Amino acid sequence: MSGGHHGHPDGAAAPRTDGPTEKCGVVGVSLADREAARPIYYSLYALQHRGQESTGIVTHDGFQQHDHVSMGLVGDAFDPGDLAGLAGNAGIGHVRYPTAGSVDEACAQPFTVSFKSGSLALSHNGNLVNAEEIREELAAKGHAFTSDGDTEVIAHDLARNLLEEDLVRAIRRTMERIHGSYSLTIMHDETVMGLRDPQGNRPLCIGKLDDGYVLASESAAVDTLDGELVRDVRPGELVVLRDGGEGFDSYQLVEADHTAHCFFEYVYFARPDSVLDGELVYEVRRELGRKLWDEAGVETDVVMPVPDSGRAFASGYAEAAQEDGSDVEFAEGLMKNRYVGRTFIMPTQDERERAVRLKLNPIRSTVEGRTVTVVDDSIVRGTTSTQLVELIREAGAEEVHVRIGSPQILAPCHMGIDMATREELIAADRSVEEIRESVGADSLSYLSVDAIADAIGTARPDLCLGCVTGEYPYDVEGEEMDPHRTGPEPADD
Ligand code: AMP
Repeated sequence: MSGGHHGHPDGAAAPRTDGPTEKCGVVGVSLADREAARPIYYSLYALQHRGQESTGIVTHDGFQQHDHVSMGLVGDAFDPGDLAGLAGNAGIGHVRYPTAGSVDEACAQPFTVSFKSGSLALSHNGNLVNAEEIREELAAKGHAFTSDGDTEVIAHDLARNLLEEDLVRAIRRTMERIHGSYSLTIMHDETVMGLRDPQGNRPLCIGKLDDGYVLASESAAVDTLDGELVRDVRPGELVVLRDGGEGFDSYQLVEADHTAHCFFEYVYFARPDSVLDGELVYEVRRELGRKLWDEAGVETDVVMPVPDSGRAFASGYAEAAQEDGSDVEFAEGLMKNRYVGRTFIMPTQDERERAVRLKLNPIRSTVEGRTVTVVDDSIVRGTTSTQLVELIREAGAEEVHVRIGSPQILAPCHMGIDMATREELIAADRSVEEIRESVGADSLSYLSVDAIADAIGTARPDLCLGCVTGEYPYDVEGEEMDPHRTGPEPADD
């Protein structure tokens, strides 16, 4: 995803660098006769966890586009005047996740382009695997790019197709060109649309409001607007909201043999109160916790979550343990300072370690003199677990066992999640025993890949498990394809 903010196919600008993959949140709203800006703003608030680097809203009032795009959190980015300036009953919005390295206003979205047959705005969550190829081809045809992000590639390709075709055909043509993961909200003049890649890697859903419709990355955004979740946008489907908020039209533009839903959305990214592809994330996490007990339960005095990421896992784990006759206590053993941002955005290892200490503090009565199981969703670099084990020991725990509700993350994400490079991943080249030693735990267990597929209720070939298997459902240069899939692979072009 990502792209320069204001682009123009005919205008030249210096290329800008940008991180390769990001997870983001996207929104689109079309209403009967109410301004769209405020509902978009609330939806972005609901999706803030999907991106904290920058945010933006673009609306259309029937005559022209209005936009406000800014760095930072949704709550800081807009003042009442900004919202009042965003006129129109239709609009789209975006929150963007910080990437390692560059923090660049030019990469903030929605990305806008104006061209002969109107104006376009795009919000993108995901990552294309063939953006470079298309960029070079379009550049050779005279398109000038203002960023090196792939959202701009989609925008230019679509703008070009729109000069020759109607809207739906133009989008179909662009979909045939672009490969990779994308959940997009698109606004062409005042028509708002949602588009999900043929394998449905990133989430996108449709919600009904009293006076219109909303498209959003997660259903929690629909709830925030007191709307009703209609359904997910289907993989390969284009949903066009009718002007005036009167329903929507669906076009199944591309069909793939398999889906590639990202399992990590369920494990970590999505809000627990969201329903993704029919499954309530909280319940999936609890089920993963239950399976973790079944596969790797250990008797201790107390089970405690890493707040907040491990909470649902730990409650499922403890519940399954108690059902099995264990008299383990389920308690909070760590307090989180909610004013500290995510440790991930700290640029150096030293700062990341300090941030964990700032963020979490043990509750002595839970851990002192006791054997403890700490449950979290995942280990990426190992910073959090290493620090926590040390903290909990210092607070007097006799034994510290670590249980993780996902398999080892051993390969990078190429599909839109800012994870870490292979070199940084603690599990990339270490055995579980070596990782246990490195984090300093008395025991360490991860969950199996099969348990993930079971808990989500989706067959393994229909999930993207690239980061835990090193085998990807998309053709990524230098990486293995997923051999569990049968039938024709998505066109290589
Ligand atoms: P680490 O400390 O590097 O091992 O990261 C693991 C911790 O970060 C866990 O508590 C996760 O909940 C959280 N986490 C996992 N993936 C991500 C991500 N892509 N961005 C931010 N935090 C993450």
